[in-house]
Amino acid sequence: MERKIKEYALDIGFDDVGFTTADPFPQLTQALEQRKNGYSWVSEGLLQLAHIADPRFVLPSAKSVVVLIYDYFKQAYPPELINSIGKAYQSRLYPGKKRLFGSRLRLIKEYLQEQGMEVGVRPAMPERQAAIRAGVGTFGCNTFVYSPGRGSYVGIVALAVSGELEPQMQQASSKCPDDCRRCIEACPTGALYEPFKMDPLRCIAFNTYGPGNFPGAPDDIPRDIREKMGSWIYGCDLCQDACPRNQKRLQQKLVPDAFLKEMAPKLAPTVLLNMDDRYYHETIQPVLYGYMWEKKFMQRNAAIALGNSGDETAVPLLGEAIEDPQEMVRAYSAWALGRIGRAGSKKILESALSREVSGRVEEEIVLALDNF
Ligand code: SF4
Ligand code: SF4
Repeated sequence: MERKIKEYALDIGFDDVGFTTADPFPQLTQALEQRKNGYSWVSEGLLQLAHIADPRFVLPSAKSVVVLIYDYFKQAYPPELINSIGKAYQSRLYPGKKRLFGSRLRLIKEYLQEQGMEVGVRPAMPERQAAIRAGVGTFGCNTFVYSPGRGSYVGIVALAVSGELEPQMQQASSKCPDDCRRCIEACPTGALYEPFKMDPLRCIAFNTYGPGNFPGAPDDIPRDIREKMGSWIYGCDLCQDACPRNQKRLQQKLVPDAFLKEMAPKLAPTVLLNMDDRYYHETIQPVLYGYMWEKKFMQRNAAIALGNSGDETAVPLLGEAIEDPQEMVRAYSAWALGRIGRAGSKKILESALSREVSGRVEEEIVLALDNF
């Protein structure tokens, strides 16, 4: 049965497959308990701390977990999107039925069900821990899973199943050189503060998400994080891109991804900042929806990236955005104008202050004006 499942999964485009038992992952519960401050959002809603580490919460009859690895770095990413949108987010790893990756998930679930198994995946499975225990990867100090020969640019799917499958042998849990700290040094916010320890509340990727789509993601991004976000709009790859275990992949010569090449200009922050609802729903959301369903969060992040660019040519665009109907977009445009700090920005901010009705935006404008 294990061989049949593996063959089918490889046939439909997954790159590796492993099996482990459905026993809980007590180390995960312990790690989350120890770092409650950063992970308090986990205990909101369905993702209870005690449950997230137990495949039987997802499927009470679970006896095994099938882990599927998908290598998402098979084509070259457009240079314009480097340090702007994370590779994983460009790779459309979404479960939607009409998307390619979602169709793979549907096919493998149907296949397992045809073999007489029940299959569970929601609300969440401990995918990274399952991949390690199923022997299909090892941890990096940056908390990502490294698949042998593929590095960390992999998507992981873990399915709880009722069938009894032979578990694979776990490899060493990490293969990082003892003295390597490059990922920690590359992290601009200090989110990665020790090997294997990351504070999501300081992670750029987490801060780019939208609350409501991702539990705990902030509505308001702390000011010091905004500055350190640099040009990132969605996700962040810095601690993976700095890693020696990924260099071979990063240096490979690949054919450009034709779809992303076409999309790249449409994802520029200058375009996203003042996009209308139709553009967002028809052009952006189908590609990037993941953890950010509402347009205003993408606009917020675009404003931050433009502010951090220091580019004076962005001032008129921010001048338009400071009149947006969304309070959040006005507030972050004010921040960005203050960050750019040119004479043109000051005039726009003063004029916006005279007609602003929201206390939150007024506060941002006043703080932005302090920069002059
Ligand atoms: S994704 Fe970025 S911000 Fe988050 S831990 Fe890695 S380098 Fe730090
Ligand atoms: S940068 Fe070094 S320590 Fe960090 S994940 Fe890569 S090999 Fe491990």
